[in-house]
Amino acid sequence: MRNLQTFFIRTYGCQMNELDSEIMVGQLESRGLQRIEDETRADLLLYNTCSIRDLAERKVMGKLGKLGRNLQHNPLIGVTGCMANAKKDTLFQKLPHIDFVLGTNNIHDLNNILDEVLASGKQAFRTDDHFEHELDYLNAKRDDKVKAHVSIIRGCDKYCTYCVVPYTRGSEVSRHPDSIVEECRHLVDQGYKEITLLGQNVNSYGKDKPEWSTLFHDLLYRIDNITGLERVRFMTSHPVDITYELMLAIRDLRTLCEFVHFPMQAGSNRILKKMHRIYTIEQYLEKVAMLRSLVPNVALGTDIIVGFPTETEEEFMQTYELLKQLEFAVAFLFSYSPRKGTPAMRWQDDISEEIKQDRLHRLIALQEEIFAKHRQSMLGKDVEVLVEKRNIKDDALLKGRTRCWKNVLFRGDESLIGTLQRVNIHSYSNQTLLGDLI
Ligand code: SF4
Repeated sequence: MRNLQTFFIRTYGCQMNELDSEIMVGQLESRGLQRIEDETRADLLLYNTCSIRDLAERKVMGKLGKLGRNLQHNPLIGVTGCMANAKKDTLFQKLPHIDFVLGTNNIHDLNNILDEVLASGKQAFRTDDHFEHELDYLNAKRDDKVKAHVSIIRGCDKYCTYCVVPYTRGSEVSRHPDSIVEECRHLVDQGYKEITLLGQNVNSYGKDKPEWSTLFHDLLYRIDNITGLERVRFMTSHPVDITYELMLAIRDLRTLCEFVHFPMQAGSNRILKKMHRIYTIEQYLEKVAMLRSLVPNVALGTDIIVGFPTETEEEFMQTYELLKQLEFAVAFLFSYSPRKGTPAMRWQDDISEEIKQDRLHRLIALQEEIFAKHRQSMLGKDVEVLVEKRNIKDDALLKGRTRCWKNVLFRGDESLIGTLQRVNIHSYSNQTLLGDLI
């Protein structure tokens, strides 16, 4: 039987995938394997893939295809992540040189599938549609020393018509609150100061387990009690599940940062309905207004898709006007691309690439103006920064973030990493605020 000593892992896609990779690294290290960064030497190569966008998937397929031709040292190759779930064992037809396929709901089984492949010398796959197993969260191997991600719910029940997530990650499964709080405490004991609670839709947490009597805001109150924890964030939310109780928690809890990802997706009711977003723009605006009145200093983030099938210029302009009106602090702007396996795939992708790009560029230009205005308004202000690390480009500078998720650079000593500091903002460059320690 082959003896594995080293592994290489590459992660594509979102924070959920990054966290899954951290958990898998923990599993492999507890097996005695050593992580190395040299793909051409590692005994095991693991690719934790993403299939949220067509381009992401093509990139990974291209990369995996080349592996078969380029590697001389005959490593074991595993594909995990959303693409593994979406394509299952059909991946072996396109990529005959890979050894195993492990879906997002099976990562607890990584060491078992490795044993199976090593013992049999045959390809193997596990790609359950639903997540059922507790993971070894406490042994996850994190690179960051100040901030950590904690998974609280996996999967999604919303079925937006353009999105593959409900098909690649399955339906919503909340994690037991005691296990989450235990992991958060463990992280704080290790020196972590900031925790981001992760899930495809964190604010529907607990709805699938009424017997726990713990909804998302209840969980936040429990985590807020952990002594030594400075900040809590969460990613990502569905507007329908942003409740009044959650807004009160954002207003009242010491640790909870005043930043909410509040994805609008489109400004037209007809397009929102076609996307199956299950809210109208009026309901969305009402929630935004309520949150802003309860928490005046809250910063909002959004996602927008332009060029969804049948979107007219007028409908696009409704999105444009709302982007202008709402002044988001963060905006992820995309042009629509159809994804295999989604309901929207049934519709003709009838907006030309040229129009999509034109709409996207108009939104980007508008958002740039809004960002510039925000940055200008920060000049002269004092902000609280959690110091994260040295800046890569200029290591005389430290890098951190405000509670509202703005990047800040300032001069300071390495000993400040992991502490909260007050910084006075004097200028900015691109997306980053520059300041002086107070
Ligand atoms: S709520 Fe988010 S993850 Fe769920 S289907 Fe919609 S876009 Fe996808």
